[in-house]
Amino acid sequence: MINLGLAQISRALGSGEFSSVELTQKYLQEIAKQNSDLNAYITVCDELALSQAQAADEARSQGNAGPMTGIPIAHKDLFCTQGIRTSCGSKMLDNFIAPYNATVVENFINAGTVTLGKTNMDEFAMGSSNETSFYGPVKNPWNRDLVPGGSSGGSAAAVSGRLCAGATATDTGGSIRQPASFTGITGLKPTYGRVSRWGMVAFASSLDQAGTMTQTAEDAAMMLNVMAGVDPKDSTSSDRPAEDYTADIDKPLTGLKIGLPVQHFSEGLDATVEQCIRDAVAEFEKLGATVKEISLPNSHLSVSAYYVIAPAEASANLSRYDGVRYGYRCENPVNLEDMYKRTRSEGFGTEVKRRIMVGTYALSAGYYDAYYIKAQKIRRLIKNDFEKAFQEVDVIMGPTSPHTAFAIGSKNDDPVTMYLEDIYTIAVNLAGLPGISIPAGLLNGLPIGLQIVGKDFAESQLLNVAHKFQQATDWHEKSPV
Ligand code: GLN
Repeated sequence: MINLGLAQISRALGSGEFSSVELTQKYLQEIAKQNSDLNAYITVCDELALSQAQAADEARSQGNAGPMTGIPIAHKDLFCTQGIRTSCGSKMLDNFIAPYNATVVENFINAGTVTLGKTNMDEFAMGSSNETSFYGPVKNPWNRDLVPGGSSGGSAAAVSGRLCAGATATDTGGSIRQPASFTGITGLKPTYGRVSRWGMVAFASSLDQAGTMTQTAEDAAMMLNVMAGVDPKDSTSSDRPAEDYTADIDKPLTGLKIGLPVQHFSEGLDATVEQCIRDAVAEFEKLGATVKEISLPNSHLSVSAYYVIAPAEASANLSRYDGVRYGYRCENPVNLEDMYKRTRSEGFGTEVKRRIMVGTYALSAGYYDAYYIKAQKIRRLIKNDFEKAFQEVDVIMGPTSPHTAFAIGSKNDDPVTMYLEDIYTIAVNLAGLPGISIPAGLLNGLPIGLQIVGKDFAESQLLNVAHKFQQATDWHEKSPV
């Protein structure tokens, strides 16, 4: 039963094949067996999960079940969960029990889902390998010597290792799509503002967006149905009405116009990955799509612009961790300054400190125009590139990552190499667009992800395009377990 995807589980629960309690028990058993090695979960909520499952089964027996009732999911450990530790992968919040639920979490509770636990992540979502977590690295279920990608590596490993039916995650520069690619699952990053950020621990507020990790696009649509919508508590959430993201999922792709950015098929891309992506595109042509080359001329500037803007916003967001209000406080401070200093030096890990320093520098008087303003101008140019491309094509396709998952420890000494991990994903965040990564092949037994990027609020179309591919191929069915 734990091998089933979310939509399949929904149908099985509906037809009474098994109960939510039975399924939840199975997942909890599997987590107990696997998690000490995989390290996908930071916190497992056995009791809560079983009581929610019981309530879901009761609701169903009274005829009150929706499509998500009784489905066991996990939340990335940066969504506030009332009464449950919300650590954000950091020593700073190791002792933080959230007093309220994030809107996303609240929506899932209202939809009747079961919370299995909180998934591991890079500290404050800063990373591409899940190695910056205070709780240690997550292993890739396909090969436990390899990283699962990051920062949502715990959610990715939990879905791919069949330790939950689906998981929430967030993507600031690629943290849903890159780990989805490395673990052979479907990762959807919606348009900025489509999903409320309220109750999500902030990293870079103009880029952070919550999304889904699932086996299939159909599963992602079901989760997005629960998550999407305006939230009066988040002024950056969009008031554009949410849709039923499953409604158009089966539409034929006849006439779909696909753009392939030349910049995403050039130097640095593994030849086998490229071949897989080209084969996937050929599959879309069989499904009735047409393909043309496009250009995103400023895409080579995206990583540089991001590593000014994201740290700048992070330096402001993380100033709240001062040992006064909540979270970690150093032992026996001699005065206020000592408390601030030691709390922050002891509570944050190396990568977080690096970002705070870069961000503070970029925002400081005298450097602000040269770095921050310049980066914002580049961001505009990148958005313009996409707008121009979308006058000619409906969706843009390419590799999610230039390669497959890499070895734990192999890129730790070189931050810039690690930053380049998101070379194909970051521009999408800078432009605020929706993107999805779906499994599209294997290289030496390791998954390869195809990235599909859409126009603003084109989630339905992205899910439709991904779903039709998944109906025609079986890459999404390959599993490490
Ligand atoms: N890898 C990028 C970073 O470290 C993106 C992280 C993310 O999307 N949360 O900033």
